[in-house]
Amino acid sequence: MNAKTFAGSEKYMRRAHQVIPKGVNSSRRAVLRPTPLAFTSALGSRITDVDGNEYVDYVAGYGPMLLGHQPPRVIEAVRTQLAAGVLYGGQHQAEAELAERIVRMVPGAEMVLLNVTGSEAVQAALRMARAATGRRKTVKFEGHYHGWIDPVTANGPGSPAGTGPAPRPAIVADHHLVGPEILICPWNDPEALADLLGRHGADVAAVIMEPVAVNGGNLWADEGYLATARRLCDQHGCLLVFDEVVTGFRLAPGGAQQRTGVTPDLTVLAKALGAGFPISAVAGRAEVMRIAEEIGHAGTYNGNATSVVAANAALDVLESDQDSLYPRLERLTNELADGIERLAARHGAPLQALRAGALIRLHWGAPTPARTYADTLAGRTEPLRHLSEHLIRSGVHARDTGLWYISAAHTDDDVDRTLAAVDQALAAVSR
Ligand code: PLP
Repeated sequence: MNAKTFAGSEKYMRRAHQVIPKGVNSSRRAVLRPTPLAFTSALGSRITDVDGNEYVDYVAGYGPMLLGHQPPRVIEAVRTQLAAGVLYGGQHQAEAELAERIVRMVPGAEMVLLNVTGSEAVQAALRMARAATGRRKTVKFEGHYHGWIDPVTANGPGSPAGTGPAPRPAIVADHHLVGPEILICPWNDPEALADLLGRHGADVAAVIMEPVAVNGGNLWADEGYLATARRLCDQHGCLLVFDEVVTGFRLAPGGAQQRTGVTPDLTVLAKALGAGFPISAVAGRAEVMRIAEEIGHAGTYNGNATSVVAANAALDVLESDQDSLYPRLERLTNELADGIERLAARHGAPLQALRAGALIRLHWGAPTPARTYADTLAGRTEPLRHLSEHLIRSGVHARDTGLWYISAAHTDDDVDRTLAAVDQALAAVSR
């Protein structure tokens, strides 16, 4: 243990720094210790870096790899498609097939439009909501993340609770959008939402939320909160938008809305939808979706053939294997989370593992159990960074934010190895 070297990744990062800002193409990737890693291959639950180090992977491409790396049916479908072309600039039959699948699986989906990334599908959903209601404002919640397109970046994960937008360089335009375009609300607080909509409801097109606050700490809403949000939206004529970019297909075949029984007007899907191939979707009530026939919807790569056949194959697996796959994911997640908490108690580490479907979020030093975004902010980030560094040195690739994605490719043996590594890492971090 601790004998891994990272010379190849370090060399790569020195080269990349010359031509890529921070040497990475998505900023969070720059912070990983001991160094941002450069990878050469990934298969199943494992990923290998340029130095030949193999890791049990819980980063999972930041979430899309719900079926693990290179799921055979997805790769086979893409290989077949590659021989027939990648991008047609016209329709192909797999697009309607995918929309039909999403309509079958996701409770709120009556019609579907495809995009490429979660961020742009959020933008499409909010634009459709504005057009459908003739209103301008969007309500978003503290700590929820909806991608990096300007308006919804205000008060993202890590921003202080209840204090308005976090300071950013002036050129990052989210401050001035708070007020005219974006209203920020604490989540899981029915009175706060009722009050905000009571004051601004007539101007609000959309209330957007992560239905399980994954980026805001991996918190479930209290019983009845989502139903209250649904009722308040109806009362004020606003559209309820669920950002299920992470929770979609991961918490259940129909996402968080299937688990909670609350159906939004519009749903944003991405990540697990494409099993690693870039694809996202807006799905929702036909009456709202049809607004796109008036306002348009565009994107060169929307519905590209490789991503669509990948998504069809991934959803086919998730749908047909759901009776065994989801219970197994839940069991592995609980074994991992319970094991981490047991080891933490043994080492006297104030670590908790909040879970939602095949997702774990670790919090260090937060009130136990953390129930609010403010609780999670009270946790400390530095010990989690240390933990992640020690785990990487022991062959476990886990994000320094403590957000772990479990996949169908993980095995009981992976969980055992991971817990052995966590034991060692906690011994070092808790010293
Ligand atoms: N919404 C949520 C809940 C997310 O977690 C993310 C990305 O992590 C996004 C939207 C943005 O998706 P993308 O990174 O594909 O643009």
